[in-house]
Amino acid sequence: MRKKQFKAESKKLLDMMINSIYTHKEIFLRELISNASDAIDKLYFRSLTDETVGMDKGDFKITIEIDKENRALTISDNGMGMTADELESNLGTIAKSGSLDFKKDMEEKSEVEIIGQFGVGFYSAFMVADKVSVLSKAFGSDEANIWVSEGAEGYTVEPAEKENAGTVVTLYLKEDTEEEKYSDFLETYRITSIVKKYSDYIRYPIMMDVETTKPVEGKENEYETVSETKTLNSMIPIWRKNKSELTDDDYNNFYRDKFYDYEKPAKVIHSKVEGQATYDALLFIPQKAPYDYYTKNYEKGLQLYSNGVLIMDKCPDLLPDYFSFVKGLVDSADLSLNISREVLQHDYQLKLIAKTVEKKIKSELANMLKKDRETYEKFYNAFGMQLKYGLYESYGAHKDVLQDLIMFVSSHEDKLTTLNEYVDRMKEGQENIYYASGETKAKIDMLPQVEAVKDKGYEILYFTDNVDEFAIQMLMTYEDKHFVNVCADKLDLDTKEEKEEIKKENEEAKDMLDKMNGILGDAVNSVRFTNALKNHPACLTSEGMLSTEMEKVLNSMPNNENVKAETVLEINANHPIAQKLKELSDETLEKYTKLLYMQARLIGGLSIEDPAEFSRLISELMV
Ligand code: ADP
Repeated sequence: MRKKQFKAESKKLLDMMINSIYTHKEIFLRELISNASDAIDKLYFRSLTDETVGMDKGDFKITIEIDKENRALTISDNGMGMTADELESNLGTIAKSGSLDFKKDMEEKSEVEIIGQFGVGFYSAFMVADKVSVLSKAFGSDEANIWVSEGAEGYTVEPAEKENAGTVVTLYLKEDTEEEKYSDFLETYRITSIVKKYSDYIRYPIMMDVETTKPVEGKENEYETVSETKTLNSMIPIWRKNKSELTDDDYNNFYRDKFYDYEKPAKVIHSKVEGQATYDALLFIPQKAPYDYYTKNYEKGLQLYSNGVLIMDKCPDLLPDYFSFVKGLVDSADLSLNISREVLQHDYQLKLIAKTVEKKIKSELANMLKKDRETYEKFYNAFGMQLKYGLYESYGAHKDVLQDLIMFVSSHEDKLTTLNEYVDRMKEGQENIYYASGETKAKIDMLPQVEAVKDKGYEILYFTDNVDEFAIQMLMTYEDKHFVNVCADKLDLDTKEEKEEIKKENEEAKDMLDKMNGILGDAVNSVRFTNALKNHPACLTSEGMLSTEMEKVLNSMPNNENVKAETVLEINANHPIAQKLKELSDETLEKYTKLLYMQARLIGGLSIEDPAEFSRLISELMV
C-alpha cells in the first residue's frame, strides 16, 4: 500500500504535535470525544427526518476502551462516519484552517498558544500516540475503510470491515518518558477524570468498562473485582446546571475549550430567564480582543440551542453589533429544532430573547464599571472602540445603552473617565463638556487652545480614536450639556470686558486682517485676533460641524471626497507678533501671514501643502 503525503501545512502541525511540549496533553481526549459527538449530532439530525437511519436518541453513544496489552486506547462512536474520500480530505488536511490564519499564526504564536487557542482537533492525538488508526463506515455506505498513520511521513487508507455506521479511533500510545507517563492514559481513573473535566456536558453517554471492587454477596469480608459498563459524563450541559453547583473553574474551562481563548473571561454571565421568553444563557465577556476582532473576518454571534440541541453555531441576530465581542450561548425550549436560518431571523421569540440578552449585557457591564473598575477598564481598552462605533453607526439610536459605558481619558488625573463623572466634576457655571482631538494625548496637549482652556481650570477629554468625535456628534448632548471642541469657534470662555476688548481690536485692524485673508485665499474663512491663546502666536479653529481632526480622518479613508473643514486663522492678540504685524510692509505681511498659517497647521497636527515654501520663507527671514 502506497503511503500518501500530508499537505504541507498539516505536516507542520503534525510535527508540532508529535514533538509537543504542551503540558496539557490530556486535551487530545476532549478533541476526539468532541469529534465523535459532532458525528453523532449529524446522524441524529438526519434521523429526525429520515426513517432509514433507524435509531432513537437513546441508541447513540460514545465508547472508550482500554487495551493495556497493546498500549491502545479506543474512542468509538455510532455517528455519521466517513467515506474513504472523507477520511482523506478530513484527516489529511487541517480542518481548523478556517479559524486560524495558519501560516501567520505558526510564525507569531507559541505552540502553547496555538493549542490552547484552537484545540487543533484530531491531530492532537499525535501528542500522545505514535500510531493512530481510524476505522470508519459512512452512514448509507456499504463499505468501511481504515486510515492509518504513524506520523508525519504520511498515511494509508485501505478497505476494511465494519458492521455499522460510525468511527473507531485507536491510539497506540507512545513509550513512557521521564517527563510524561503516557501509560497513565490506560488507567480508568485517569480517563474518568479527564472526561469529567472536559466532556461532562456532552449530550451522548460516554461509556467505559470500569473495574470495581465489591463485597461478595452473602459473604462477610470477601470482595471481588467486577467489570461494569459505566457512563462517565453527566450529560447535563453546564448552562442547565445550577449556579451553586458550578465553580469558577468550571465556567473558565468551559469557556476556554468551547471558545478557543487561552485566557479566562473578564466576566461570566449565567442567567436563567422565565417569562415571555424562557431560556438559559451563558455569556462570556473576553479579556482581550481576538486577533481578527476589528476586521471584516470576525463573525459575531451566540450559539443557539433548542432544548440542549445545537441548532446554530453563530446566531448573529442574538447580539447587537456593539456587543459583538460577547461569546456564549442561548438555550431555549421555545425554538423549534428544524427552524431555518431565514425563518429564525424573523422569529418573535428570538427577538424577545435578543432584547433581554442585550439588556442583561448592558446591566452587567454597568455593574462591572461600578464595582470592579480595574476589570472594566481592561475590558474597555479591548472593546471600547466597538461601543463608540455602536453609537456612531446607529446615528445615536442606542445612546441610552451606550452613553454611560463609554470612557475617555481626561485631563483630570490623566485617567479614563465616564461622561457622568465628568459632569459631576463640572465647575460652577460650566455649560459645556470640553474635548480636543488628536493622534495622541501628548499631541493634543500641544494644541494652543488646549493649553488656554486648561489654564482657565476646565477639564478636557482627549479624543484619540478616529471614531471619537464622530460618535460624540451622534450623542449631541449628555445630561443637556453640549460637547464643545476646544479647537472650534463656539468656545465662549471670555468675560464681557474681554469680549468687548477683542471686538474693538478686530474692528481696528479690519483692513489688515482682510488683507491677510486675501493672501490665504480659500485656505481659511477668515483671519482674526483672539484672546483665547496663552503662549502660541496663532492657531486654526474650525467653524461648523466638521473639525480639522475630522477632516483628517475622513480624508485618510479610501475613496475620500477630499472634504475641508471651515477654518479660521486666529492670531494671539497678546503675543508680540500681533503688534509686529501692524508695522509690516505689504510684501513682508504676505510672508508673515503664510508662515503663521503654516505654523498653525503644523501645531494642529495637520500637514502643510508646500514644505519647500515654508523652508524658503523661514530662511529669508533668518538671513
Ligand atoms: P474539527 O473537528 O475542528 O473540524 P478535526 O481535525 O478534529 O477538526 O477533524 C477534522 C474533520 O474530520 C472533522 O471536521 C470531521 O469532518 C472529521 N471527523 C473527525 N472525527 C470524526 C468522527 N469521529 N466521525 C466523523 N467524522 C469525523
